[in-house]
Amino acid sequence: MKNKPAILWTNLLVFLLTFLVAVIGVPLYAYLYGFDTVHWVATILTLGYAGMSITVGYHRLWAHKTYEAHPIVQFILALGGAFALQNSALHWSSDHRVHHKFVDQNDKDPYSAKKGFWFSHIGWMLRDYQANTYSDYSNVRDLQKNKIVMWQHKHYLALAILMNFGVPLLLGVIYNDIWGMLLTVGVLRLVLSHHFTFFINSLAHIWGSQPYTDKNTAKDNGALAFLTYGEGYHNYHHIFETDYRNGILWWQFDPSKWFIKGCSYLGLTKNLRKVPEAKIAAAKLQMQKYRTEHKLLEKPDHQELIAKLEVEYQHLVERIKLFGQVKKEYLIAKKQKMSDAAFSDIKENYKQLKQQISEQQKQWQQTIMQLA
Ligand SMILES: [Zn+2]
Ligand SMILES: [Zn+2]
Repeated sequence: MKNKPAILWTNLLVFLLTFLVAVIGVPLYAYLYGFDTVHWVATILTLGYAGMSITVGYHRLWAHKTYEAHPIVQFILALGGAFALQNSALHWSSDHRVHHKFVDQNDKDPYSAKKGFWFSHIGWMLRDYQANTYSDYSNVRDLQKNKIVMWQHKHYLALAILMNFGVPLLLGVIYNDIWGMLLTVGVLRLVLSHHFTFFINSLAHIWGSQPYTDKNTAKDNGALAFLTYGEGYHNYHHIFETDYRNGILWWQFDPSKWFIKGCSYLGLTKNLRKVPEAKIAAAKLQMQKYRTEHKLLEKPDHQELIAKLEVEYQHLVERIKLFGQVKKEYLIAKKQKMSDAAFSDIKENYKQLKQQISEQQKQWQQTIMQLA
């Protein structure tokens, strides 16, 4: 039998001790001395700060470069990332890029979901599985040119200690309850922040739907989005990782997306990248066609039915492509402030096509319902 890699005692002890304090120490202190609203508000706010520094900063800004951010925003996110205690942004991004490139490949994906819930959630950090690749930063050369990322990487340990002890201590001194704040803002916040983020590697690869692709284990899960600041839409994210959004519909809970967009109005973020609507629709459509075809195979006259489905599919795909072009032209025309007459023609064309697509999509939904 192959020997398991050595246990990483520092990681194991940090995870274990903070967990024990959160489940035993916090309730005990609550019973003996009590917490009040201020403790809980401070815990929730700091939890959000640490968690969103990972999603907005580590993940969408540095690992995937889905937008650009002002140095002051980067600085705040770098401090928040150290507060979240998930290694430096450089290291985290390097691991994460490997995860995307080799997703589900047990020998390469550092937190491969195919190795089970426990491994992808936390097990991968408890033993020295990455002994040979730990300091290989060849896939983050771009980030090595970023002064803030490198400053945080160089001083990571000091920053992590400063944030994790400094913030709760400061709040404790202000509120005159050092132990209370150390337990809530210090430990409870850290444990929740850890596991909520870890859910993205574990649960978001296990539980949910796959509207865009089934080539990997990533799932879309609205419930999980609530705990992960929008990262629950992980099926979308794995196919379109360059998009600054994970929940693409306006109502989908994605505070990371709202924060990035909100900052853009203040000039603090820019060049927010979005995947064209037509491309997204095409991916979704292809998945629906593939699933319907699969179901049809059981029917005796499946060849005929599949041919019918194919015709409708091709027709819709062409329309969607055309709509993508027309929309682009429409948006350019809108910006250029062309003459009213010329613009109204383009606008009319755009509106008509939009209407047609929506009807055709309804038709498509009916067809796949009927056939399946
Ligand atoms: Zn990602
Ligand atoms: Zn993933």
